[in-house]
Order: sequence, then C-alpha cells, then structure tokens
Amino acid sequence: MAAAAMPRLKLRRLVTALALASGVIAFANTLYAAYLVQREQLIANTLEANRAYAVKLAEVTDLYIESLQRQLALSAARAPGLLGSKAALEDELARLILQADGIMTAAITDSNGTILATAPANLGFEGRTLVQQQLASGPRPMRGQISTPYVGMAGHLILAFSEPYTDAAGAYAGAIINTMPLRQGNEFDKLVGDHFYRDGSYLYVVDGTGTIIYHKDKERIGTSEKSNAAVDALLRGETGAMPVVNTQGRHMLAGYAALKHGGWGVVAQRPLDETLRPLQSLTSRVVLYALPLGLVMFLAIYLLGRWISRPLEELAQIIERDQPGASAGDLGKVKGWYYEAARLRNAVTTSQSSQTRRIDKLNSDTITDPMTGLINRRGLALAVARQQQAQQPFAVLALDLDHFKRVNDAFGHGVGDLVLIELAAILRAGIRAEDAPCRVGGEEFLVLMPDASRETAEKAAERIRAATASHAMPQAVGHITVSIGVALWPSDDSDIEQVMAKADQALYRAKNAGRNRVEVWAEAALQP
Ligand code: GH3
Ligand code: MG
Ligand code: MG
Repeated sequence: MAAAAMPRLKLRRLVTALALASGVIAFANTLYAAYLVQREQLIANTLEANRAYAVKLAEVTDLYIESLQRQLALSAARAPGLLGSKAALEDELARLILQADGIMTAAITDSNGTILATAPANLGFEGRTLVQQQLASGPRPMRGQISTPYVGMAGHLILAFSEPYTDAAGAYAGAIINTMPLRQGNEFDKLVGDHFYRDGSYLYVVDGTGTIIYHKDKERIGTSEKSNAAVDALLRGETGAMPVVNTQGRHMLAGYAALKHGGWGVVAQRPLDETLRPLQSLTSRVVLYALPLGLVMFLAIYLLGRWISRPLEELAQIIERDQPGASAGDLGKVKGWYYEAARLRNAVTTSQSSQTRRIDKLNSDTITDPMTGLINRRGLALAVARQQQAQQPFAVLALDLDHFKRVNDAFGHGVGDLVLIELAAILRAGIRAEDAPCRVGGEEFLVLMPDASRETAEKAAERIRAATASHAMPQAVGHITVSIGVALWPSDDSDIEQVMAKADQALYRAKNAGRNRVEVWAEAALQP
C-alpha cells in the first residue's frame, strides 16, 4: 500500500513561523508608528523653532529700522536751519551716513524733489529730481517712509528711507533720504545673514509687496516671492509656521514673522530632509534596543513550538511502531500537558487496548473449536509446545466414542452433534483446572494432563469413562460409551509424536478389547 503524500511542514516549524511572522509584523508596525510619531515631533519642533527665530529677527530688524528713522527725523529737524549753506547740508548728511549703520548715501531735496545736496558730496546728483517711487510715495512723503527696491542713480538696487522737513512756517519744504544697498552687503547681513546654517537652513526678508529685500542668494534680491504660501501669510500680516516648497522645488519647514515697520516680514526655513535626517539613526537605535528581548522571545517561542509538537510526535512514533501491547508503557510516558494532546493520547490508549482485546479474541478464536468450546488441534499444539518448552511432563488421554456412527444413523447428524457437546461437558467436569481438553477430530478427543502420574491419568480416564457411560444423552439417544487410551511424556517416549501415537495404540487396544474401557500404554502389553 502506497503511503499518502506527507506534507513536509512540521508543527514545530509552523508554530515558530507563525510566531515569527506575527512578531515581525507587530514589531514593524510599532517601528512604523514610532517613526511617524518621531517624524511629527521633529517637524513640529522645527516649525516652532523657525517661527520663534523669525519673530526674534523681526524684532531686531524693527529696532534697526526705528533707529534709522530716529536719525533721519533728527536731521529733518535740523535741515531748515541749514538750507542757506550747501556745505552745512553736506556736513549734516555726512554725519547721518556715518551714524546710521548700513546706509550708503544720503540726500536732501526741496519741495519739488530736486536734490540740493548729497553725501558723499561728490556724487554729482545735485539738481536732479527724484521720481515718486524714490520718495516712497511722493510728492509729499509721510513721516518714516520706506520705498520698495529700485535701481538708484548710481545703478545699484537700493531701498530708500525718507523723512519730510518743514520751513519756518511749518509748510512742507522737502525730504531727507537715506539709501541702503541691497546686493553689496548691508546691515541685514549682520542682522540676519550670519545665521546661516550648514544644514541648509536660511532666512530671507520680504517687503510689503512680497519682494525679497534680503536673501543669502544675492541674485534673488528684488525678485517677487508672492506665490510662496508663507510670504502670502506675511502679506496678510500674520506670524506663524508652515511647510512650503521653495523655488527649487525643495520641501522646507518655514517660520515667518511680520515686522511692525514697512509691512516687511522675515522667513526662516529649514529643509525637510535635513530635519528628518536624525530619524534614520533613531529608527536603527529602536531596532538595536528591541533586538535582545526580541531574540529571547524568538527562542522562547521556538522552544514552545517544540514543546507543543513533542507529544504529537511521540504519539505518532508509538502508533507507527505498531506494537499494541508493548506501547502501553510508552503511552504513559507521553506528556499530554495541553488539552488536545491529552485527548489524543487517551484516544490512542483506548484504541490500542481495544485492538489488543480484538487480537486476543482473534487468537482464542483460532485455537477454539466453536461447537464444543474446547481447544482445537492448533490449541493442543500450542499447549504441547508450552509443556515441552518448560520441560514439564504430562499424560495424554486419547478418547473415541463407541459406535458413534450408529447414533448418527439413528438420530441424525444434528443429534450426534448434541452428543459431542454433552461429552465435552462431561470431559470438563472430570478433569483438573490445569488439564487441557481438546477436540482433535470429528468424535475424537484428547486430554492433556500436565504433571499427571500414570496412576492419576488412569484414574481420570476411568472417571470420564464411567461418567459417560452413566450419563443419559439428550434426544432419547440414551447411554453411549467411550474408549480411552493413556500414554505419558516423556516416560513412554521422549518424542511427543510417538507418545501421541502410543496413546492411540492404547485406545485401539481398548476398542479391540470390547470398548467402554481404559487402556494404559505399556511396553509389556504390546507383547502378544
Ligand atoms: P468405533 O469407534 O466404536 O469403532 O465405532 P464408530 O462408529 O464410532 O466408528 P468411527 O469412530 O470410525 O466412526 C466415526 C463416526 O463419527 C463417523 C461419523 O459419522 C461420525 N462423526 C465424525 N465426526 C462427526 C461430527 O462432527 N458430528 C457427528 N454427528 N458425527 C460425526
Ligand atoms: Mg472415531
Ligand atoms: Mg468412534
């Protein structure tokens, strides 16, 4: 019989694989959750840091603008008294650019915007008229005006700070103007430009129209940044933080703060990828810290898998060995430490003992004569072999019913059978428990009597003969008789076959001597 194909997957490996898979998935999930939390935290921290930094720099820049405007206001107050002398005006303007940090040139105009004097003095701008834009909002500027970036008379991109002055009657008489270069290096470089980080962080300043007035990349100064979401928020006067995409398409985390003056705003931003760089090492550290306990868990699960599969494997081995009787002890050793294993072990035990019983019954069936219940020829052979093996002497009684043919002829075969059954009962009643009565053929019987002496055997044979002769057989058969021959092993012959033959010879002699007799085999009796 071909064995069914066996799956190669073992329970131990299955348990280990399942545990490993669920462990890995759970760990990966935790790792991912930790990664997300860390990521959120890093982003939130950076946004807040950039916002705070932008607010700080907005305050510093406001202070700077206020100091510029204070100095301009001071010069504006002095201007009316100096109008008569160009030299005096130039002195005042020279003092102004010396005192105001980051100022390149200064100029004074009359009420039409025509330049009266400049500092430095030899620029040659006198007599030229400034356009409205250069006065920020002319022709009569308000106090503390700041222009948008424009290309000045010297050809540089500049910003103008202007302050009006009045004549003795209090009427508008002109303005004093400071200009700040935007691309040549100015006060912003000191105020905000120093804070340039190696990790790609940077700052820039926009004016009230969204035009960049300071950027680390000088080329960007003067360009509009209106489309930027952070600048858009600044133009609405807001302070805050948000993720943005810069002009190079790079994701940035921007903090922004509006100034009090000029509608300006500061943006401080850091690249997202730089912000998230620590995540890699954070994640690998999480893995590192989780590893030892993870390995212990794996080992524990591996051992548990073995522990779970062991009783099943042991049971399989016992069943495979296929020795019902011998495995009873092994079954007791199988540890059914969990419900299913214990149930399986009990089921195997039950099934094996019932199998054992079946086999015992099968054995007894094969050595039993079904009609009389006595052992048959095969059973006799086993009994004889046992005697021989134990070297235990025995006597043998050979029996044959007298004229049994007549019973069959007169009453039928069925009644004959009843007589045989009756004789079996007489046999059983007439012998000891250790004696083995046997039906060796149709109406021929044999009794094996272990350790019986010649005398004991003869007495037993005589008892059986007498009991049979006096017994009334069923179905009106009446009385029938039996002839018996007796022989002994090993005293009559060392060969058991010969002893059987001698018992038969003794029986034959009993028949010849008239039946209903017992004859004990004896050497002498054979002599004619
Ligand atoms: P004797 O032994 O006294 O010489 O005469 P007998 O008539 O008994 O002769 P024998 O022993 O040779 O005959 C055996 C007879 O037993 C033959 C057969 O009809 C009968 N017999 C054998 N086996 C059975 C059986 O199983 N049932 C029945 N009813 N009769 C059987
Ligand atoms: Mg016979
Ligand atoms: Mg007979």
